[in-house]
Amino acid sequence: GWRFDNTYARLPDALSVPATPARVREPRASILNHRLAGELGLDLDAAAPEGAAALFAGQELPAGSRPIAQAYAGHQYGHFTMLGDGRAILLGEHRTPAGGLVDVQFKGSGRTRFSRGGDGRAALGPMLREYIVSEAMAALGVPTTRSLAVVATGEPVYRETARRGAILTRVAASHIRVGTFEYAAALGDEPTLRALADYAIDRHDPALAGVPGKYLEFLRAVADRQAALIARWQLVGFIHGVMNTDNMAVSGETIDYGPCAFMNAYDPDTVFSSIDRAGRYAYGRQPDIALWNLARLAETLLPLLDPDEAKAIAAATEVLAGFPAAFEGYWLAGMRRKLGLRTGEPGDADLVAALLAWMHKSRADFVNTFRDLSPERPSEGDPEFLAWHGRWRERLGRDGQPPDAAVALMRASNPAVIPRNHQVEEALAAAEDRDDLSPLHDLLSALASPYEPRGDVSRYQAPPPDECGYRTFCGT
Ligand code: AMP
Ligand code: MG
Ligand code: MG
Repeated sequence: GWRFDNTYARLPDALSVPATPARVREPRASILNHRLAGELGLDLDAAAPEGAAALFAGQELPAGSRPIAQAYAGHQYGHFTMLGDGRAILLGEHRTPAGGLVDVQFKGSGRTRFSRGGDGRAALGPMLREYIVSEAMAALGVPTTRSLAVVATGEPVYRETARRGAILTRVAASHIRVGTFEYAAALGDEPTLRALADYAIDRHDPALAGVPGKYLEFLRAVADRQAALIARWQLVGFIHGVMNTDNMAVSGETIDYGPCAFMNAYDPDTVFSSIDRAGRYAYGRQPDIALWNLARLAETLLPLLDPDEAKAIAAATEVLAGFPAAFEGYWLAGMRRKLGLRTGEPGDADLVAALLAWMHKSRADFVNTFRDLSPERPSEGDPEFLAWHGRWRERLGRDGQPPDAAVALMRASNPAVIPRNHQVEEALAAAEDRDDLSPLHDLLSALASPYEPRGDVSRYQAPPPDECGYRTFCGT
């Protein structure tokens, strides 16, 4: 069912290089996403299991694919570096039955021109981790790349220890990153930069194609998508962990699941990544970092905005200046839904801030606190919380909807189940160490309907017994 085009491969040469997935010893499908395959118009059931494994290990390339590695650069922890797909290979863009164009990419399929010292490989655990978290994000309604398959290669990859190798098939609106623009700008070749910008507009903002000032409008559109995306992250407690500019997609999808994790106890300083010692990418800093990254994007676009650099800078600055209010708007709208409110009042930001301040002080679990909120007056509890609850009830009264409607809105806005780190790690350990995929499937099925859980999901709702010291690791 593949319908490949190779639009990115036709862009100027500097933006990509041909690449070939490596041969692997014994590909075996760990997990196939049948539902996503269906949406893409692919029939996985028609293929024998060995066929699917060979396909998603890149051993038999789909007709019409023209594999490439994409060039990009990026600010990693604030420092500029030339990068590129060092362990990813883009097969091409697949035309879906709905008419959309999606990237199909292998992650972990061997070395490319951009691998530098790396082996181009990936370990099974981290690829299954991306599968779980990206699919959970999709079910939560957060824009994200998707995971179509994970195939074990039957070959070891060497990290701190020998681990089982694997390849993830990732599906994305595109893999154009802020860092892709940084790469094109660093080349100093304006036609290449313009071709990239036109291509990105064509894929993500086609309505802008004929518009005067389209590059500035593109910047505005990317900034708006990021404001909406980061607001969604904050509202579910998602911490990306490594918001380098090479890990921010202009499509507005969450991309590159490495050391990401969901927050348990509410604390804006929460950091999980073991290498983020300074807390650059802490939960509470994500909106600021997004804006910092957008400023890097804006810099690359300056030559396209206006021949007069001062005018270009002024125009870009005006767009970036709108980001904090745009983020705040999306975030507050989401917080109102979480509190069951349909209308807006000037005091709402204060009401939310008071709840968050109490949660912070009492180290309340972020997700469970919202899920457990009920307009019914609690019979007992912390006086500070009871006082807040009274304020909220008055506010709900002024909102003027029946209590049932408020509760329904809250249920649809506050997930019962998120991928808690300790449960993800447990499922990964079973899969990697014991070849037991049933905990992973159980977890995935709970995560598939986070707002209206089916069956008993209580074991996925418990915060970790001891969260202190939990760290995620990336680069594996
Ligand atoms: P990441 O931290 O996963 O966003 O990756 C940053 C850069 O390192 C990207 O250019 C990756 O392609 C590259 N990279 C990560 N792991 C490997 C690996 N095992 N082999 C080659 N390149 C890698
Ligand atoms: Mg990356
Ligand atoms: Mg990566």
